[in-house]
Amino acid sequence: MMLGNACTRRCGFCAVPKGRPDPIDFDEPRRVAEAVAILELKHAVITSVNRDDDILGGARAFALVIGEIRRQAPGCQVEVLIPDFQGNEEAIRIVVEAQPEMLNHNTESVPRLYRVVRSGARYQRTLRLLQYAKIVDPRMVTKSGVMVGLGEEMHELLEVYRDLAGVGTDVLTIGQYLRPSKDHLPMTRYYTPEEFAFMREEALSMGFRHVESGPLVRSSYHAHEQAVSTGVTLLT
Ligand code: SF4
Repeated sequence: MMLGNACTRRCGFCAVPKGRPDPIDFDEPRRVAEAVAILELKHAVITSVNRDDDILGGARAFALVIGEIRRQAPGCQVEVLIPDFQGNEEAIRIVVEAQPEMLNHNTESVPRLYRVVRSGARYQRTLRLLQYAKIVDPRMVTKSGVMVGLGEEMHELLEVYRDLAGVGTDVLTIGQYLRPSKDHLPMTRYYTPEEFAFMREEALSMGFRHVESGPLVRSSYHAHEQAVSTGVTLLT
C-alpha cells in the first residue's frame, strides 16, 4: 500500500489510520517495484490510502509504479486498486493510460449505506469511474468488490451487481465483512455458503467474466487466477 500511513477518508469499516498525510513521496514507486522484483512476483496488487489532498499526485504515483514494475520486474502483471480520485477524470486517465493489467476500484456496499460505510465517497461516482476507465481504454480489464454483512438486503446487493455489470465491470469479488474492532461498524450477520453461491451465480448471469464469492474473499483474493480466467495474463 502506497502513499503513506494516514488516509484522508474515514470509511467506517477500515482499520487504516486516518489523518493528515505527509507529502507524497515520488520515490516510493521505485522502491515498491524493487520489492516486487526481489520477491519475483508474477502478479502484484498495488493500492494506496486516499489522498484527497493531492489527487493528481496520487494518480501519478500509480502510473509511476506501473512503469517501474515494467522496468524492474518485466513479466509481472500489475493490478491497481485505486481510490476514487473524487471522480477526477484526468486522474483516472493518468492511471488507465499507464496500462495496468487490471484496474480495481471497490464499491464496498449498497448506495443506501454509503454515508456510514464510505463517507466521502459516492455510489454513482464509483460506477462512473469504472465506466470511464473503459471509455479511456475499452480493453482495460476492470474489477470491483463488495462486502456483505453491513446491514444491506439481498435485493440491494443484486441491484449493485447489475449496476456494475451495466458499466462493463469484468471481475467481481464478494466477501464477508468482519469488524476490525469495536470502534468500527458492527457486522449485522454472517452470510451462508449457499447465499455466497447464489450471489456468484446471479452475478455471472449478469455478464461478469469472473466472480469470487465466499466468506473469506477479499479484494485481492485469487487475483492471479482472476487475471488468468479473464485472459489478461501472459503467464502460466
Ligand atoms: S479510503 Fe481506503 S484506506 Fe481510506 S479509510 Fe476508506 S477504505 Fe480505508
